[in-house]
Amino acid sequence: MNHFSNSRRNVIRSLSLGAMAATGPVLSSMTEVKERDDQARVGLPPLKITKVKAIATCPHGIELIVVKVETSEPGLYGLGCATFRQRAHAVVAAIDKYLNDFCVGKDVDNIEDMWQATYQSSYWRNGPVLNNALSGLDQALWDIKGKRANMPVYQLLGGKCRFGIDCYAHASGKSPQEVADNVTMFMEKGFRHVRIQMGGYGATQLLGAYGYSGEAPEPDFKKAGFGMPDDNFMDSLVYTKSVVDIFNKTRQQCGEQVELLHDIHERVQPLEAINLIKALEEYRPFFIEDPFSPENNRYFKILREHTTVPIAMGELFNSPHEWVDPIKDQMFDFIRIHISQAGGITPAMKVARLAEVFNVRTAWHGPGDVSPVGHAANAHIDFAVWNFGIQESVNFSETLQEIFPGSPYVENGYMYVNEVPGLGVDINEKEAAKYPLPDVQMNNWTQVRKKDGTIIRP
Ligand code: MG
Repeated sequence: MNHFSNSRRNVIRSLSLGAMAATGPVLSSMTEVKERDDQARVGLPPLKITKVKAIATCPHGIELIVVKVETSEPGLYGLGCATFRQRAHAVVAAIDKYLNDFCVGKDVDNIEDMWQATYQSSYWRNGPVLNNALSGLDQALWDIKGKRANMPVYQLLGGKCRFGIDCYAHASGKSPQEVADNVTMFMEKGFRHVRIQMGGYGATQLLGAYGYSGEAPEPDFKKAGFGMPDDNFMDSLVYTKSVVDIFNKTRQQCGEQVELLHDIHERVQPLEAINLIKALEEYRPFFIEDPFSPENNRYFKILREHTTVPIAMGELFNSPHEWVDPIKDQMFDFIRIHISQAGGITPAMKVARLAEVFNVRTAWHGPGDVSPVGHAANAHIDFAVWNFGIQESVNFSETLQEIFPGSPYVENGYMYVNEVPGLGVDINEKEAAKYPLPDVQMNNWTQVRKKDGTIIRP
C-alpha cells in the first residue's frame, strides 16, 4: 500500500516537473504573477480609471447623456452613451454619485469584469436608469480599448462582415398619398428600406382622412375634462384601417423595389395587432415592429400560428429575462434592443450571438434620443455581427455634429463610421455646455388614451 502511494506520488511529481519545464518556472508569489502578466501586455501598459463623469447636453430640446471615462494616461479617455431622456437627471446621479466612486482605481482593460462587477454592484439590477449608466461606462471602455489597440471597435469585435450598414428611412404624412410621395423621395435618395407611418402615437390627426370634415372631433374624455390637455387620443379602428391604406397606396405607387416597414408602437389590443398584421400580408412587409407591449409577450405564440409576416421586437426590453426565451422560441425575426437600455456593447454582443443561433437578426433601436456615441456603438456592432438585419437611420444636425465630431453618417442608404481608433466619436464639452439640461424635467412620455379616457400602454 505504502509502496503504491510512494510510486504514485513520484509519478505525480515527475508529471509536475515535466509541466514546469514546458511552461516555465513556478511562480512563488502573487507579485511575481502580476509582474509576469504586466510584461505580457505587449503595447498595453497597465492603466487605471481616474474619473467617470456624466456629460449632459440638450440640443434641440433632446436630453443626451454621455459618460466620459478618464484614465491614468494623460489625454486618453473614452465616451459611452447613457441617454435616457425621460429620466435624464436620475442617470446623471447614478453616474456621478455612484459609478465614479465605484470605478476609480480599477483596471481599464478588463471590460467584461467591470461590466459584471458594476451590473450587480447595486444588488437590484436590470432597470433603465442603472443600465444606461452601465452602458456609458461599457461603451467608454470599448472606446478606450480601441484607442489603445489603434483600431476601430468593430475590429475588436471581429472585423467587418459588410462594407456598409443598410439602413431604413422614416416616411410619414397626413394622408396615404403624402406617405407614398415621401417613400418615393427616400428611394430617390438611395434608400432600399423605408418605414411608413401616418400620425404619431395618437390617431386623432388621422380622422380628417377618414370621412370627417375639418377639425377632428374632440374625444369624449377631453369634453369631460378628464386627463391633461396634451394627452393624445387613439382610435384603434381608425389607426388599423389607415395602416392598410398606406401600405396599399405605397405599393401601388412605389412597386416592389422597396422594402416597407411599420411600427405598431404596441398601442392596440393584441388581437387587433394580429388581425392588422394578417391584413398586411399581401403587401409583403420587411417587418412589422412592436405588435405588443412587453407585458403581452405571450401573444407571440398566437401571432406565429396565424401569420408569417416578419416581426421586430425589443426596444422596451431591459433585461435578459425579456429576450432569452422569445429568441430561443423564435417568436420574432429581428431583435430591436435599445443598446444603452440593455447595458452597452458587452451585453448587446451576447444578444447578437444568441440570436444568430436561432436565425434572429439585429435591428438595433436608433431614434433621435440616442447620442451620436450610441449610434456609433450600434454601427460598430452592425459591421461585426453576421446576423445583422437592418439599422434605423439617423441624420445628425450641424449642431449635433459640432458637439459630437466624428459622428456616423449615411450615404445612399448605408451608414458608415468614422474610421479612427475607438468608436470614432468625440465630444466638444464647450459646445455641449451651451445646451444645458433643464432643471425641471419636462419630458415625460406621451400619454395616449381611449375615447373614455383609459390610458393605453406602449
Ligand atoms: Mg418601435
